[in-house]
Amino acid sequence: MALRELKVCLLGDTGVGKSSIVWRFVEDSFDPNINPTIGASFMTKTVQYQNELHKFLIWDTAGQERLLSFFVLQETFSTLKNWVKELRQHGPPNIVVAIAGNKCDLIDVREVMERDAKDYADSIHAIFVETSAKNAININELFIEISRRIPSTD
Ligand code: GDP
Repeated sequence: MALRELKVCLLGDTGVGKSSIVWRFVEDSFDPNINPTIGASFMTKTVQYQNELHKFLIWDTAGQERLLSFFVLQETFSTLKNWVKELRQHGPPNIVVAIAGNKCDLIDVREVMERDAKDYADSIHAIFVETSAKNAININELFIEISRRIPSTD
């Protein structure tokens, strides 16, 4: 069976749920008291999808605020736009960007309207998925969609 290796790096404000998303995907569990990531952590997970093995190499980041102290006080949606700008300027070409609107289980405290997020994602050709690491909503789908968007190298 063919094996694809996919490098994934999570970016975003502290507290938005990056480590929880990785934990849900890799271990299929949720820890409400998850330890803050120090520096960066690395995990892998291999899943079978449509007769291929997809091996995700996942870097979870932390401490970006030191680099981007400028943006920290902004709301996560505007911070996201700054991340995308940084990625486009300094990241590799042809990078696949996926936006996870996490904590969609918290229906009473919605900060970003789904329509606005979708429109923004469309405008930059990014994947957009509303996720909940807590309730396991769309986490596997997020990673599979990333894999589907990354062209095969063979
Ligand atoms: P990170 O700093 O972006 O890595 O965020 P964490 O994964 O450490 O999560 C920050 C806080 O948000 C923790 O208290 C998590 O339990 C909580 N959290 C993460 N994902 C979800 C989610 O999908 N729903 C809810 N309700 N809480 C979440």
